Amino acid sequence: MFIGIDLGGTKIEGVVLDEAYRVCFRERLPTHRHQGYERIVDRVAEMFAACCRAAGKRPRVVGVGTPGAMSLADGTMKNCNTTCLNGRPLRRDLEQALGTKVILENDANLFAWAEALLGAARGYEVVFGVILGTGVGGGIVWQGKIWPGAHRLAGEWGHHRIAEQGPPCYCGGRGCVETLLSGPAVEAYAAKERGFPAPLAEVVRAARQGEVAARRVLDHFLERFGHALANVINILDPSCVVLGGGVSNIDELYTYGREAVSRYVFGREFCAPILRHQLGDSAGVIGAALLAAEGERQG
Ligand SMILES: [Zn+2]
Repeated sequence: MFIGIDLGGTKIEGVVLDEAYRVCFRERLPTHRHQGYERIVDRVAEMFAACCRAAGKRPRVVGVGTPGAMSLADGTMKNCNTTCLNGRPLRRDLEQALGTKVILENDANLFAWAEALLGAARGYEVVFGVILGTGVGGGIVWQGKIWPGAHRLAGEWGHHRIAEQGPPCYCGGRGCVETLLSGPAVEAYAAKERGFPAPLAEVVRAARQGEVAARRVLDHFLERFGHALANVINILDPSCVVLGGGVSNIDELYTYGREAVSRYVFGREFCAPILRHQLGDSAGVIGAALLAAEGERQG
């Protein structure tokens, strides 16, 4: 049995996989990130305890997906959109709270890895995994392995700046991809255009039914998606792109969104598939359990 936990901006998810990597247990808790760092550590510990009960044992190692990454310099967290994690020694604190070895990895890297090994991106040599959710992340898997990069930054397209006058971002930039394509960003833009707030799914429904303002929001979103993703394609030229996160459930991404990518790609030739996640819109948690499996094997 392998336990993985994904520490997301909105929810903490836990999963138990058996030896054949089948999901035996999966549960979600709200993160309540506004309650602060210590409370988040406690909630991960609660989730770990629930997973241990389901697994019937306490494993020697657990994989945890996080936003951002652990700094190479001092082991504290950096680049997390759950900003109370930044500057904190999360791995050390989790190991203390959980009483077991913890392996941390960026959530988008884990998502890409899980889909590359077990999901939609199986068989592709270079996979760019995208998370469109509370934040916007990305991860690169090359020949079945996560490519973390020299500063654990690889794949972080969410902070490419594509609109000089765009909304400010917690990273200090303006017009970052995350400020334009994340679920909360699209909902905020829709509220401005339509004059009232609504969940993203409702905005998309209204657009399909022909509401002009909602249509404008959706078109704008798809155009930005094309612009942003084409920038990545021009550097990485991956064999496939796989999308996850709540926002990836918008069907138009795979049709009009794909066409928008083609318009922005250098030379306009873009044949690689843009795939929908197969392991659920939060496959990162599966990747976290695979990390635990790898950790167990390595002792
Ligand atoms: Zn940013």
